[in-house]
Amino acid sequence: MSAYDKNNVFAKILRKEIPAAPIYEDDRVAAFRDISPQAPTHILIVPKKPIATPNDLTAEDAGLVGHLVLTAQKLAAEEGIAESGYRIVINCNAGGGQSVFHLHLHLLGGRQMHWPPG
Ligand code: AMP
Repeated sequence: MSAYDKNNVFAKILRKEIPAAPIYEDDRVAAFRDISPQAPTHILIVPKKPIATPNDLTAEDAGLVGHLVLTAQKLAAEEGIAESGYRIVINCNAGGGQSVFHLHLHLLGGRQMHWPPG
């Protein structure tokens, strides 16, 4: 479990205290473009609920996680990468490459992805 810092950068974007390039928003999630894109499409999808890492999800978040993935699916179609393919990534903690401690999905596409990831 991780303590949630309410002043992390995504919390500030959700509160509209700092700008982002918004893509989509509803009552449970928001999506905006990554400031340092690693692919032609690189969108971050975040829950509005303050959750620091995947370790902090509980059974009551199952519907929210499903909604995050379905939002990624919808945005992939809108970005025109559904058929060519895309990758959904969730990093967890330092060893997983997480640098912002508000749960987020990366939606990456528009180029060939490689395996294993770096
Ligand atoms: P992670 O390393 O999985 O925690 O991903 C954090 C992502 O947030 C990185 O890809 C950063 O480029 C991105 N990021 C950091 N600050 C901002 C910001 N102000 N607006 C949009 N994306 C950001």
